[in-house]
Amino acid sequence: MSWFSDWKEKRAKKKAEKAATAAAAPAKKEAAASSAPAAAKGAKAPEFIADSPIDGYVPGLGAPPGGKINIAIYWAAACGGCDVSLLDTDEKVLNIGDMSNILMWPIATDGKEKDIEALEDGEITVAMINGAIRNSENEHMARLLRKKSQILVSYGACACLGGTPALANLVPGGVNEIKDYVYGVTPTSANFIADGGRKLEDVMPRPEYNAPEGTLTLPVLYDTVKTVDQVVDVDYYIPGCPPTQKSIAALLDALVGFVYRGEALPPKGTTVGVIPKSLCEECHRHKENRRITEVFEPHEVLNIDHDLCLLDQGILCLGAGTIAGCGAPCTKADQPCRGCYGPPKPVSEQGSSIFTAIASLFPIEANDAKMNEDDMDDIMSVIKDPLGYFYAFSMSKSLIKRAVNEGGQ
Ligand code: SF4
Ligand code: SF4
Ligand code: SF4
Repeated sequence: MSWFSDWKEKRAKKKAEKAATAAAAPAKKEAAASSAPAAAKGAKAPEFIADSPIDGYVPGLGAPPGGKINIAIYWAAACGGCDVSLLDTDEKVLNIGDMSNILMWPIATDGKEKDIEALEDGEITVAMINGAIRNSENEHMARLLRKKSQILVSYGACACLGGTPALANLVPGGVNEIKDYVYGVTPTSANFIADGGRKLEDVMPRPEYNAPEGTLTLPVLYDTVKTVDQVVDVDYYIPGCPPTQKSIAALLDALVGFVYRGEALPPKGTTVGVIPKSLCEECHRHKENRRITEVFEPHEVLNIDHDLCLLDQGILCLGAGTIAGCGAPCTKADQPCRGCYGPPKPVSEQGSSIFTAIASLFPIEANDAKMNEDDMDDIMSVIKDPLGYFYAFSMSKSLIKRAVNEGGQ
């Protein structure tokens, strides 16, 4: 039985129990309330507006120990997609509002850093950080939220694995090389400089600026992009680019169970919403383990077979080195998996494990040698950016981690 049907069944059972005990509810409510665990520190009495404000929560059965929980959501080096995925919970987002005080959520509320600083340590019940740690502000906020929170969740591929921002680790010259390129070489910047007779330093961001109102500073960009757990201790991980609604619901269910029904939380370090097997086992496509002699981009294959493994069709799919749980939406849509859920445990090197799986499909065995080393080079040269392809999401967690610069760092 999947977690989802299990969850639905549990919910239906609770609702039936509630209906059966409706007459005795007031007395039971009081008794349960007095024995409930005080999981939400400092929270006030609940003010749920709906009969069942969030799926899985049944008023009166578990008895809320202290009412609303405190939530903080922060985006570090992120594209915004992870925040939008939280809104993808549809009407449940209102239920989140019913069960929680949202103390910080840059995309939706006006919580300020000083408001978080003013809290007692541990006063935030759960903090969720999406995005990678790319600069000094990201790191400061991750440390602050860790200090003020009981539970810290690393949310999304960038937070868990480094994601797209961590591909910047492959630039040997680090931040200076990136800034020189972005502000000096890209056509928009180069034209802006040339057209206005400006110099590079005129357009380069300044770390500090003395305005009449006071000194303004910019966060310091780091040469190496890190995951959240490379900076602070993390309790739970939710992978995905962005995470699926199913994963978010699983986290909410666990939180509701903990806070309002006194249920145990999943073990620390749990990756929420994954299934411990490779994506290939979740994917509907069948494998014929055909030998690859050519590699294609999906748009180059005009008649993609909807049921045959994409690798068998020469399309580089990373499913073999990716953990299941997302439901394989990409391969259902004739697109290869790009690995956003990260590697299956205990694999730590997602890129090289996928590369090995793909290499095993080259016909180079002695009894089936249709290719030699040059042919393999030819095939691989079709992949314009092999590191970017095989480590699209996991560079910070890879053994490579970053390019070595001239100073050997
Ligand atoms: S994981 Fe994906 S959706 Fe989330 S911030 Fe990173 S790039 Fe955006
Ligand atoms: S390699 Fe990709 S297409 Fe093939 S079975 Fe695995 S996930 Fe599906
Ligand atoms: S199929 Fe792969 S890339 Fe697509 S959502 Fe799942 S893990 Fe991410």
